[in-house]
Amino acid sequence: MLDDFDRFWTLISALAFFGLGAIWGSFGNVLIYRVPLKKNIAWPGSACPKCQAPIAWRDNIPVLSWLWLRGKCRNCRAPISFRYPLVELLTAFVFAGLYLRFGLSWSLLEYLLFSFGLIVVTFIDLDHMLLPDVFTWPGMAVGLVGALLNPERRFWDAFLGAALGFGFLYAIAYIYLAIRKEEGMGGGDIKLLGWIGAVLGWKSIPFVILASSIIGSVVGIIFAIRTKGGLKSTIPFGPYLVLAALAYLFGGESIGQWYLDLFLPSLISPN
Ligand SMILES: [Zn+2]
Repeated sequence: MLDDFDRFWTLISALAFFGLGAIWGSFGNVLIYRVPLKKNIAWPGSACPKCQAPIAWRDNIPVLSWLWLRGKCRNCRAPISFRYPLVELLTAFVFAGLYLRFGLSWSLLEYLLFSFGLIVVTFIDLDHMLLPDVFTWPGMAVGLVGALLNPERRFWDAFLGAALGFGFLYAIAYIYLAIRKEEGMGGGDIKLLGWIGAVLGWKSIPFVILASSIIGSVVGIIFAIRTKGGLKSTIPFGPYLVLAALAYLFGGESIGQWYLDLFLPSLISPN
């Protein structure tokens, strides 16, 4: 009986986190659109980008309103991008998934905030090839303070993670600049990996670097073939770092440990 009740409660809670994620995703859409344009994020309320008609609350319900209106503005019928419900759904699934993985805990709170920030910067990076400092620096700071407050994490691990993430990409950018005399790695990517290290700890960094490079290479090659633009056609690297970080959060920890064990077995074996 108790088991059934527990399962029922877990399901209800997961649905609640799903709804919470959809609402945060809706706020994420506002940030993705407005922050790069340096617009106020709280005022005025949402409006149709085409006809400027204000969007009523009933037309602003995450995912559902988009479906109900069949992706068109109620006023002028201009199409509303599928991106909006996509970001809402993505955040909803990530929130529910994090709850199921971590349960109600300090870490859950941190990871909700972290993944929300990552989703927002991903879409800003895709739109503008830019990872705004207003997310990366505070993200890193919140990650470090979180490690101090969260009894499930250790500060030195977070600090080392930030230093390693930041330092590794900084070194790569420095070497690339010295050899090629042009900037290869954006400063935003460096800060983003520092942020990831501050939240996920130093052991995540080798995994995130390897996984993001693999995903980035595969996508880059497909992109180069399809556009015939060659490998130089630039795609922002931030989204790959984010994908790798989320993969680590959802189970890559054991893969990351295995990967580390291959190279440094004596240094980090648990006993
Ligand atoms: Zn309109």
